[in-house]
Amino acid sequence: MESLESTSLATARRMRALEPSATLAMAARAAALAAAGVDVIDLSVGEPDFPTPDHICRAAEEAIRGGKTKYTPAAGIPALRKAVADDYARRSGIATTPAQVVVSNGAKHSLHNVFTAVLDEGDEVVVPTPYWVSYAELVKLAGATPVLVETRIEDDFKLRPEALQAALSPRTRMLLLCTPSNPTGVVYAPEELAALADIAIDRDLAVVADEIYDQLVYDGRAYASFPTLRPGLVDRTVVVAGVSKTYSMTGWRIGWTIAPEPLSKAIGNLQSQETSNPCSISQHAAVAALTGPQECVAQMRATFERRRNLVAGRLAAMPGVRIPEIGGAFYAFFDIREPLGRLKSSGISTSMRWCEALLEKKQVALVAGSAFGAEGHVRMSFAAADDKLAEGLDRIAAFLEGG
Ligand code: PMP
Ligand code: GLU
Repeated sequence: MESLESTSLATARRMRALEPSATLAMAARAAALAAAGVDVIDLSVGEPDFPTPDHICRAAEEAIRGGKTKYTPAAGIPALRKAVADDYARRSGIATTPAQVVVSNGAKHSLHNVFTAVLDEGDEVVVPTPYWVSYAELVKLAGATPVLVETRIEDDFKLRPEALQAALSPRTRMLLLCTPSNPTGVVYAPEELAALADIAIDRDLAVVADEIYDQLVYDGRAYASFPTLRPGLVDRTVVVAGVSKTYSMTGWRIGWTIAPEPLSKAIGNLQSQETSNPCSISQHAAVAALTGPQECVAQMRATFERRRNLVAGRLAAMPGVRIPEIGGAFYAFFDIREPLGRLKSSGISTSMRWCEALLEKKQVALVAGSAFGAEGHVRMSFAAADDKLAEGLDRIAAFLEGG
């Protein structure tokens, strides 16, 4: 069958506008090449390369043996909701109750839940670009409209208060912020966030603060959760986070929202109809992650910071390449407009074509900036082993030099 559109199984209108996840698509492509025996360096997907720490795996084994293999409350087991609330309260200083926490099947699901629970048809959500691939699609799925606001590499890709003001309309309902940022690795300073918070308060906006990389901040900088920046933000903010990045648990699928209690209840109700509880075994593993020893987090952070130094140094030295200051997460988002300009005559005029040519000629997988709403750039994940990173950077340098 060529297409579903004229059949009884035609997809809904909302599906026709839905793009597949470009990060997951590129990772699948790189994995298929590797399975076919190609020596591919996959720096596309943002996934820590470390094994999940042993004590967390053991907790999962115990959960299985102990019969924790049944439905749990839809919003998560009490022990995990409490562990999330306690961990957040300890690190942010904001008193948080388990009732404010809903545990979902990864932070991506948490984001989907918030948008579905809060947004009405026609509501506008301000999304600074470059943005993480799924934001715009998830907002659209909820029937709302993402309003993309461009940021500039000269500003380290940070949303400026004037740009936010200019993007507001009577329909603006929500501001979406991600710091440390995927895809740019940029970390907002507390005073920069506070300036955005003032506008959110003044214009009565809801804020979704995606803080999934909150523990991956480098150079000894302190972590400032968005609601700590001004009084009253707790009542208008949903913090989204999870265990995927902090504890190298991407496959376990545990993320969460921290929201005012009435919204949390609504999200729990939604989830009770949508998916029921996230995996019971993963929930027990996540309790061990949050309440167990935290040295593993410091170790992984130190490794990422070392890799950040390597990657930022090498990329900045490549001809025509520009990168912002990478303060956190594990991504380098670099500007290739100048190298692209040089390649025009060979038919490579977009970041997508550039990534395809890099994969074809040098077998390095990156993700095109267009997937993040920022044409002329590409994203490299440095959540990869040191030797792979070094080899990947050598190949990118050779590609840029036309070799
Ligand atoms: N938000 C951001 C900014 C991310 O990079 C990711 C990465 N996948 C997610 C949310 C979703 O994470 P999870 O694996 O928990 O669904
Ligand atoms: N967040 C990661 C990334 O951006 C994982 C892939 C995904 O969930 O899209 O690469």
